[in-house]
Amino acid sequence: MRKISIFGATGSIGQNTIDLIRRDPDAYDVVALTGGANIARLAADAIALKADIAVTAYENRLADLRAALTGSGVKAAAGQNALIEAAARPADWVMSAIVGAAGLAPGMEALKQGATLALANKESLVCAGALLLDTAKRHGACILPVDSEHSAVFQGLVGEDIDSVERIIITASGGAFRDWPLDRLNEATLAQASSHPNWDMGQRITIDSASMFNKAMEVIETHEYFGVSPSQIEVLVHPESMVHALVGFRDGALMAHLGAPDMRHAIGYALHWPERRHLPVARLDLAKIGQLNFQTPDPARFPALGLAYHVMARGGMMGAVFNAAKERALDHFIASRIGFLDMATIVEQVLEDFEGSSSLIDAAMTLDNVSKIDQLARQQADVAMTKRTG
Ligand code: NDP
Ligand code: MG
Repeated sequence: MRKISIFGATGSIGQNTIDLIRRDPDAYDVVALTGGANIARLAADAIALKADIAVTAYENRLADLRAALTGSGVKAAAGQNALIEAAARPADWVMSAIVGAAGLAPGMEALKQGATLALANKESLVCAGALLLDTAKRHGACILPVDSEHSAVFQGLVGEDIDSVERIIITASGGAFRDWPLDRLNEATLAQASSHPNWDMGQRITIDSASMFNKAMEVIETHEYFGVSPSQIEVLVHPESMVHALVGFRDGALMAHLGAPDMRHAIGYALHWPERRHLPVARLDLAKIGQLNFQTPDPARFPALGLAYHVMARGGMMGAVFNAAKERALDHFIASRIGFLDMATIVEQVLEDFEGSSSLIDAAMTLDNVSKIDQLARQQADVAMTKRTG
């Protein structure tokens, strides 16, 4: 039996992961499940899967979790340290699906004990890509991408030499506002931004898809994970979300990965890798689909994408600044303190603030330094927000 843990088990990726392992319960020995505020879901899944331990990120919810687990034999724990301790419990395969920079430290800990880390938490790679990859290397651990585009690229590279890659193209659905004119975008409401045309995902990544901050994060993720230069990474708007990514080789060949927009494909690929097993995802009927469309993204309506290239050009720990400012700007948009386009303006302002701070940005990439920069960038995002809103 394979020992597995799921971080962010109560979220969209976590629930899709649980759906897959439930179909083959004898194959898995569940070590830890973690969640946040959704105690009922966390406890029910931990009991059903006979997990050793269930952990909520919030210390003030420990009593609720304990009560929900009474008599089940599943241990309860809460708080940041408990998350780290759960990640240190030996496991063969760990799903990293906490949302935000909060996923970085548990992911690092899982790598230190040599687990295969199935990485949905793209924020980890954006904030501290070099640190994460180096930790995996030093501990003989392995990171498998779960983001659909990166899983697609990974699959396109099997048996290929990375040096023969000329370019990597990741696709973007264009999100909720693909066809909206610029002057309408600042009026976009939270409800409108929270509804995705093709994918069913957590609220934060859905809004990031509408603003293209998600694609900006994924461009940086591509650069960090595959080690290709920024100039080799392209984004193509593809409204049908069926081609997830394309790898272009130096002989001119383009290898495309197609599949239904269902995260259980990428999760299942990482779960069974290096094998391929049957997965319960819809099969594409291309004759029925008939037509697939592609467009160049519009930089004026989606300024987030350009910021990603700026972050990569600056290097150092600018990715941690970018992610933290983006997370904070998103908090403010969700709380209706700013408009939709203000998110990109705030992030751009914070990047400018940090541009010249060489002692911070170019310091050694450690977990402590990343966390320090993360906090400072969140503060600067608040300053930029206050300036905008008066
Ligand atoms: P959700 O918001 O649906 O779930 C997030 C999970 O993290 C929940 O279990 C939540 O707990 C938990 N959580 C929230 N805040 C914290 C915190 N501060 N500390 C610890 N745990 C926390 O997100 P998604 O599943 O959509 O996304 C998860 C990750 O996967 C993100 O990094 C996202 O970018 C990435 N991803 C997601 C895709 C998707 O299809 N959803 C596709 C590709 C990547 P609770 O809900 O109990 O509060
Ligand atoms: Mg993606």
